[in-house]
Amino acid sequence: MNKPRSSPALDDYAPLVGTGTIEELRFFAEHLKGKRLVMVNSTRVGGGVAEMLARLVPLMNELGIECRWEVIHGNPDFFRVTKAWHNAIHGAPVRLSATDVDIYMQTNRKNAETINLDADVVAIHDPQPAALIDLKKNGDARKWVWRCHIDASHPAPGVWDFLSSYVERYDASIFSLPAFAKQLPIPQYLFFPSIDPLTEKNRILTEEEVEAVLERLGIPRDKPYILQVSRYDRLKDPIGVYRAYKIAKETNDIRLVLAGGSATDDPEGAEVLREVREAVGNDPDCHVLELPPDANHEINALQRGATIVLQKSIREGFGLTVTEALWKGKAVVAGAVGGIPAQVLHGVTGLLCHTPEGCAYQIRYLLANPKERERLGKLGMEWVRSEFLVTQNLRRWLLLLHALEYPTERLITR
Ligand code: UDP
Repeated sequence: MNKPRSSPALDDYAPLVGTGTIEELRFFAEHLKGKRLVMVNSTRVGGGVAEMLARLVPLMNELGIECRWEVIHGNPDFFRVTKAWHNAIHGAPVRLSATDVDIYMQTNRKNAETINLDADVVAIHDPQPAALIDLKKNGDARKWVWRCHIDASHPAPGVWDFLSSYVERYDASIFSLPAFAKQLPIPQYLFFPSIDPLTEKNRILTEEEVEAVLERLGIPRDKPYILQVSRYDRLKDPIGVYRAYKIAKETNDIRLVLAGGSATDDPEGAEVLREVREAVGNDPDCHVLELPPDANHEINALQRGATIVLQKSIREGFGLTVTEALWKGKAVVAGAVGGIPAQVLHGVTGLLCHTPEGCAYQIRYLLANPKERERLGKLGMEWVRSEFLVTQNLRRWLLLLHALEYPTERLITR
């Protein structure tokens, strides 16, 4: 596969993670050269999964693994169903209807006819393409892996019963945290997701670059701003963020920046955005931004320019926006849900909250304590360096490829 010119090489990460880490990756890949891996998900842009695959796939190829990335196609109905099921896996009381099952199966069957899954290992990401496992026949030489990026620990029973009848036919599953896993009769592996420190979203920016973006987005730097970057989704609680800002604003002259767009597989986005605009009204210190899917430079600058970064989710997958903010040395206040507590170690790498009031309390505390912001930010950055960079994710995939060749029941946790 041709590598785009802008794609960093493995050695480019050495200054950030150390040469030992890079040498170790090459060592693990040595016996995997020529292996063919295909990753399958449902969107090429928007959302954490797409972000991660975009970095992982070229690096796999550099290591000699023939890794391809396929995206399934579906109509808005399909994405409405899979969005509802996504919520159901998070525990929302969504009923499994025969019509929805039909829509889901039809799309999966149609994709099964066109998608190229010729590989040694087929890695299917999340529920949308999970039924492609129907292509696995007796004596199939391929290994099938289901990579679940969402918290499946307390799903709505109907939807999960249906999906798990497919998941159980995979050779292995991967979850993002032990707490997200569900009892399954197949081996389970635990991979933290990751970010790439060399992408446009995460690379170091000059102060001038940050200034230029903020000016273009119409955010004056006359006072500190607090920021939340996320899709306009109720589970990200943008209204709760606004309430926390209002409380903190009583004692601090600050701005609020809410930045997000809606992923192509998230039809609820526009509706939530409308609700947020309505709640915020014409507060001149609130900036509700709608970003295109490729606004990586803008997100980078917004995160670097912020005094505090929030992620006040009510439910969360892993929460890559938190990883991104921590990597930029920012003081983070985030909801204690999903993968956030694995990243934000309360009082060490950031602060956790449960309610808008609690969030406001932490914001006020941090606004009054610049040294504490700096301390948390520095430790947060080190925590990301050690656990949540793409090099660590790559290492886990390489170990998985080995494990699939020489199966054991052991979990890879680091
Ligand atoms: N993101 C983006 N544009 C947006 C909102 C989010 O590019 O308008 C990015 C964000 O920077 C992060 C990812 O999308 O890299 C979101 O991942 P996360 O795990 O935080 O949440 P998800 O959207 O997958 O639930």
